[in-house]
Amino acid sequence: VFDRRPLIAGNWKMNLDHVQAITFLQKLAWTLDDANHDFGRVEVSVFPPFTDLRGVQTLVKGDDLPVVYGGQDLSPHESGAYTGDISGQFLKRLGCAYVLVGHSERRTLHAESDELLNTKVHAAYRHDLVPVLCVGEGLEIRQAGTHVEHTLEQLRRGVAGLDAGQAARLVVAYEPVWAIGTGEVAGPQDAQEMCAAIRAELGELFDGDTAAKIRLLYGGSVKAANAGSILKERDVDGVLVGGASLDVSEFASIVRFEQ
Ligand code: PEP
Repeated sequence: VFDRRPLIAGNWKMNLDHVQAITFLQKLAWTLDDANHDFGRVEVSVFPPFTDLRGVQTLVKGDDLPVVYGGQDLSPHESGAYTGDISGQFLKRLGCAYVLVGHSERRTLHAESDELLNTKVHAAYRHDLVPVLCVGEGLEIRQAGTHVEHTLEQLRRGVAGLDAGQAARLVVAYEPVWAIGTGEVAGPQDAQEMCAAIRAELGELFDGDTAAKIRLLYGGSVKAANAGSILKERDVDGVLVGGASLDVSEFASIVRFEQ
């Protein structure tokens, strides 16, 4: 039996500036502290805008806050003439543990392809960052009934060329695009169906032991009210939360889904 430590991740998107980020994290830490949250059992990660990361690092280190953090994207390159981009090396130096790769907003608004995302996944590992590879289908594909095949194809292309040691540390977030920011939530069974398919595919691509170590998150309109039922599912090891991660008490309740 593998003990996959649940990961509750908050994707702030382009919200909370560097001052608001500090206030938010202090309040979050106090709230969870007051509630005697067991940080050893459930891992809490936030994904702030790049401009917040230095302040977040100083706060987390200085006050020894038991939260980790990551970037919302990274460049596939190390450094050079890539105006506006941020390399994995910079994120690592700011203490990031994770980095989102292939969030649906990056895929759609920045036309990021599976091939590009695969180079970003490899760049993350080069800098000892754990990629949170986001996959998931849009509404038309869900309605056509080809969502499992579509999502597994994104997965295969995203993880191409990884070895089993790298794959064991990977996090995959299943985020049906039709459920992101819409209030529509995939039911716990839908989340489980896809996460089980993803784990089976990872078993084929690597091996069963490796697949059993990989954490799979669900994302799409997760709130305190639905997090518990989703996280009860066998193959769902955490959640990636957008809107509800911007409210301290709502996010703290999601972190404390077991209570
Ligand atoms: C997300 O952007 O990763 C997300 C899941 O957003 P929301 O929770 O707002 O649907």
